[in-house]
Amino acid sequence: MKIAFHGAAQGVTGSCHLLDCGGKRILVDCGMYQGGRELVEDNANDFGFDPASVDYLLLTHAHLDHCGRIPLLTNRGFRGEIITTAASRELARLVMMDSAGLQEEEARYRNRRARRRGRAEEFQPLYTTLDTFNAMENFGRKARHGQPLQLAPGIRATFFDAGHILGSASILLELEEDGDTRRVVFSGDLGLGGRPILRDPVMPPQADVVVMETTYGDRPHKELQPSVEELYDAINATVKRGGNVVIPTFALERAQEILYYLHAGKEQGILPEFLQVFLDSPMAISATEIFKRHPECYDAQTADLFRTGQDPFLFRGLHFTRETAESMAINQVAGGAVIMAGSGMCTGGRVRHHLKHNLGREHSSVIFVGYAAQGTLARRIVDGARSVDIFGEEYAVRAQIYTIGGFSAHAGQAELLAWHGHTGNPEVTFLVHGERDSMAAFGSMLRNTRVEMPQLHQEFSL
Ligand SMILES: [Zn+2]
Repeated sequence: MKIAFHGAAQGVTGSCHLLDCGGKRILVDCGMYQGGRELVEDNANDFGFDPASVDYLLLTHAHLDHCGRIPLLTNRGFRGEIITTAASRELARLVMMDSAGLQEEEARYRNRRARRRGRAEEFQPLYTTLDTFNAMENFGRKARHGQPLQLAPGIRATFFDAGHILGSASILLELEEDGDTRRVVFSGDLGLGGRPILRDPVMPPQADVVVMETTYGDRPHKELQPSVEELYDAINATVKRGGNVVIPTFALERAQEILYYLHAGKEQGILPEFLQVFLDSPMAISATEIFKRHPECYDAQTADLFRTGQDPFLFRGLHFTRETAESMAINQVAGGAVIMAGSGMCTGGRVRHHLKHNLGREHSSVIFVGYAAQGTLARRIVDGARSVDIFGEEYAVRAQIYTIGGFSAHAGQAELLAWHGHTGNPEVTFLVHGERDSMAAFGSMLRNTRVEMPQLHQEFSL
């Protein structure tokens, strides 16, 4: 038995781990590298293995950094079975289609620019919409939490709740080779207990080998309740001044979580009755519809809401604006509106139009509820720029800027430690999906296990 790490090795994106057992090859996740432009090449690089040789792909969840290279894998010969939960399958299709669309757009833009400069370069997208359709053909059985699936003689996989995003899972693999058995647990990305909408993460079973994420391996997560109150305060203060609130929004999970709190705030009379909320993101709207189709993922509280005829993603004053014309009409609203639009880091999408209209108004505000990577427009605003460039024009920043950090969908150090504790005394723990410092800090706290922080493409015998 062997395991090799072909992504998220000493970094937080590109998850891709390959197991060899009894002549079968099992890939866990096939994610995209995300960040600056230089990563385009990382994504196009060789996988480090032959895609045609892979028999099964188990997908932990539908974030781009876990599913984003699946169409490329299919393009390069993968014909195995992709297994994931029903919710993850739907979300993965949405995420891969969106990614393909963005890449096609980027390639068209680059080619136009190259032609204008008299160069004959031909930029190809990493994959196209059509490639994504082809990749969807490889999705096979649907995994249900807690129910083992037989992949091949001597190979069983059991998905269990990771509490991170809709459909997310950790995975236990029970492997047998020449009378030798190994229990290997992959954490996937782990969420936090006590959050709304989704069920809490399930603690893992005992294992011989653990592969776990370490995004926040070196710090505690922020408390949620103060963040919710901060959100309400910021909205109320802005409405009082007569301005609008712009919330750059991540389409998956974060958008639905914020809708949930806006709904609750209105119900409890914390937010004004007349407040208008626009979800101005076709992708976030589609994701919200997928949420509604998967009550099997809800926690008891959210399930109860739906059972009594309430819908936390629907309330008076909420508008879903899919069409561009509807989106542009929002600009006529002078005050009293919350505008949620993508992208979360303001690198593209409709949010840039809303920033253009509201950044210069001191009555308005922009609320950042997610991570803003270095080099993005979101980061420049968060860091206090007096003016920013949008579509080649300079706009003064006079609006109030808020950064609220408690809405993260990742477990903090204490939760990661508790999770690892349930695996017993594993022979070896592989740390992945974390920056080096975070990984090292977390690794130094683990007892009764050998800790490895694999290099890209490094292989280990199990
Ligand atoms: Zn994730």
